[in-house]
Amino acid sequence: MKDAQPGAIYLKDYQAPDYWIDKTELSFDLGENETRVTARLQIRLNQDRHDRQLPPLVLHGNADMTLAEVKVDGVALSADQYTLTSETLTLPVSSDRFETEIVSVLAPQDNTSMEGLYKSGGMYCTQCEAEGFRRITWYLDRPDVMSLFTTRITADKAKYPVLLSNGNCIEQGDTGDGRHTMVWEDPFRKPAYLFALVAGNLAHVEDTFTTQSGRNVTLQIFTESHNITKCDHAMRSLKQSMRWDEEVYGREYDLDIFMIVAVDDFNMGAMENKGLNIFNSSCVLARPDTATDATFQRIEAIVAHEYFHNWSGNRVTCRDWFQLSLKEGFTVFRDSEFSADMNSRTVKRIEDVNHLRSAQFAEDAGPMAHPVRPSSFIEISNFYTLTVYEKGAEIVRMIHNLVGREGFRKGSDLYFERHDGQAVTCEDFVRAMEDANSIDLGQFMRWYTQAGTPVLDVTDSYDADNQRYVLEVTQSCPATPGQDVKEPFHIPLAIGLLSSEGDNLPIGDKGQTTVVLEVREASQQFVFENRIERPLPSLLRGFSAPVKLNYDYSRDDLLFLMRHDDDGFNRWDSCQRLATETILDLVRDIQAAKPLSLDTRLIEAWRELLEDETADKAMVAEMLTLPSEQWLSEQMAVIDVYAIHEAREFVRGELAKSLSEPLQSIYRGLAVEKPYKPESADIAERQLKNICLGYLMELDSPAMLSLAETQFQNATNMTDQMAALSCVINGAHQTAPGKAETLLSAFHDQWKGDANVMDMWLSVQVSGARMGSLERVKQLMEHPVFDYRNPNKLRSLIGVFCMRNLKCFHDLSGEGYAFLADNIIRLDKQNPQIAARMLTPLTRWRRYDDQRGALMKAALERIQANELSKDVFEVVNKSLA
Ligand SMILES: [Zn+2]
Repeated sequence: MKDAQPGAIYLKDYQAPDYWIDKTELSFDLGENETRVTARLQIRLNQDRHDRQLPPLVLHGNADMTLAEVKVDGVALSADQYTLTSETLTLPVSSDRFETEIVSVLAPQDNTSMEGLYKSGGMYCTQCEAEGFRRITWYLDRPDVMSLFTTRITADKAKYPVLLSNGNCIEQGDTGDGRHTMVWEDPFRKPAYLFALVAGNLAHVEDTFTTQSGRNVTLQIFTESHNITKCDHAMRSLKQSMRWDEEVYGREYDLDIFMIVAVDDFNMGAMENKGLNIFNSSCVLARPDTATDATFQRIEAIVAHEYFHNWSGNRVTCRDWFQLSLKEGFTVFRDSEFSADMNSRTVKRIEDVNHLRSAQFAEDAGPMAHPVRPSSFIEISNFYTLTVYEKGAEIVRMIHNLVGREGFRKGSDLYFERHDGQAVTCEDFVRAMEDANSIDLGQFMRWYTQAGTPVLDVTDSYDADNQRYVLEVTQSCPATPGQDVKEPFHIPLAIGLLSSEGDNLPIGDKGQTTVVLEVREASQQFVFENRIERPLPSLLRGFSAPVKLNYDYSRDDLLFLMRHDDDGFNRWDSCQRLATETILDLVRDIQAAKPLSLDTRLIEAWRELLEDETADKAMVAEMLTLPSEQWLSEQMAVIDVYAIHEAREFVRGELAKSLSEPLQSIYRGLAVEKPYKPESADIAERQLKNICLGYLMELDSPAMLSLAETQFQNATNMTDQMAALSCVINGAHQTAPGKAETLLSAFHDQWKGDANVMDMWLSVQVSGARMGSLERVKQLMEHPVFDYRNPNKLRSLIGVFCMRNLKCFHDLSGEGYAFLADNIIRLDKQNPQIAARMLTPLTRWRRYDDQRGALMKAALERIQANELSKDVFEVVNKSLA
């Protein structure tokens, strides 16, 4: 049952709860046809809020549950003594302390939403963030209500030998009828969104960790037994995260046991439930022959992220869901610094910024744009966004840039000390940083409240007589839904100055070559005295703020910065700017039907990169990667999908032809057999080798094709095997039609038993325009490895086609849009969260030409005409508004 017009909830309406729940005792009786949940709650009036009459107790619930029994202080209520709606249960109250006991009956085997309690394969599992707990029992399901939880689980012993919940196991035994019971007790108060339960036939690996104060913690990773050989990397990552959080933040783990469970059907990546993290299997399982380097690195980052939440999220949690970035922005910043320390700092920064600029900037410029702390929502699940996570992390990084490493640690120590065990707000976090560092971040708070990507326009002038160099910085921010006018932001702008010889000049009072300018005004001047010549500025070093920066660099300036900038990020960024400008010039030539020719400066810059034997291979690999079609799309006022694709392919082809020799020489130098290690130097070598192979495939030559085939056949790790497969599928292979099909079928036969590898097999076929037609997507949906109920399969096939294969998805026939609309309508009945997320490509309809825009809008209107979940309703209606 859904409301016809779901209403919005506003931050300004926040009120503390009427009641607290001191203790929560849960008992689950898991059955194949029904599961009974008994919840006994010790409830207490919130004295701060009420001195008048006792208000009724309004608990959150869900229409999919059946209410079997309600007792207050041991006395059963009859149906006329309470009020039950599809979303609430209201009970009368006659004292300021009382106990309720509620029995709910669930059908987890039929729950396809993957919120609350559901079955994945043969196991039971839960997902309660944000509002899943209300699908398990009626409760005060809001993060500021924190309670002590005890959980009793009873289930068939043969089918579900492993029964897990949060905290420590305090009791277990058989019940005599082929069933058994375990009782878990969590000594830390927590909101219901951190509750978890798992029951299944699972194997596990075990290790231990000794904390800095000398306590021993048992570490366990649970998975189905056929995957038990794929847990080592996650375990290693967990131990590294635990050590790092002690060293960098002084944070120690607080329970005797820490468990991770891998689950195949999961809406998100992973979930930080107290002591019992539940992971999408794609984010935890890895073995060199089954997972790519990218997967190894993603697992390291996600294991760390969820572990770090134990402090930034669990011990100190959010007061309400508007504050989601309080835990997510901070924790993404923490995991990204961890990855930077474990791998290459510059490369990690490039990857994060690339993702932010391609995807979050697009979100900021679209109909769903919202501040990092939204002021209203209809369905909170729609706000687990790049803005809340990635831009939220950039805000924390800016504070780090402003107060420095030591100042930041003082601020985080104060935050954890002041708020341990509390549910707090973004202001509380920023205030701790201010108080620990005696600074004023009042203006800075606008980053939390104003949506949109700020733009910095920078010009400069040089006065030779007075040896004075001046940078003039003007800031602006485009209007976003509900916010027409923006106040100036407080922006840390890191810069350097280069001499005509390529020296990075001292500019700080201690001779530093990088300084952070604090931009606060709409327009502001920064003066540099005693400059004997006009310098070339290196602006926004390390991407010191999530802004777009315009400065009129010539292409020769960019080449100069690529060679001489001592900021690694900006060397890469100059290279990206050069490639972006070159491709966009070609787009204009295509639109004007002019003949195409590639600016030779780009070729020479690439040649220099390839021939520099001393260069860092990871950096070379990043610099040789052309800007994505998504990023190029964001640079155009009206996105011309076909011209962008054609221009980018033309550049790839021309670079391959002109640089065939150095590309081959690097490829052959790196194509040597050695044991697989997921370490940064080795990862960089494989990445560079496979980028070279990708370019070489553009040559459409039998010799190059056989390089890829040989690599595919001889590969001892998934990185090289998958790269070779992708090169053949996406390369120009007219000389050998059918090759791609042969390799795809060999790959399928080799890996059909591995669900996560099969996800990659689906994606690689539909992510590129050469092979990934809509027809192929539809065929693969009929293939036995595809499963419409599994979110990973939906994302790998439909999601990848619609979000990455821009040329085919945006086919002028409009068939791609109709296909997506059909699937959203179908999927919304099954899994609203995933349906709403997959809608994203259609929401950008205003950015395209009239013909495509009209077709996309029609697809949205067709979805709108259905009875929709809150999730899809909100996205569709905001997109059409
Ligand atoms: Zn998180």
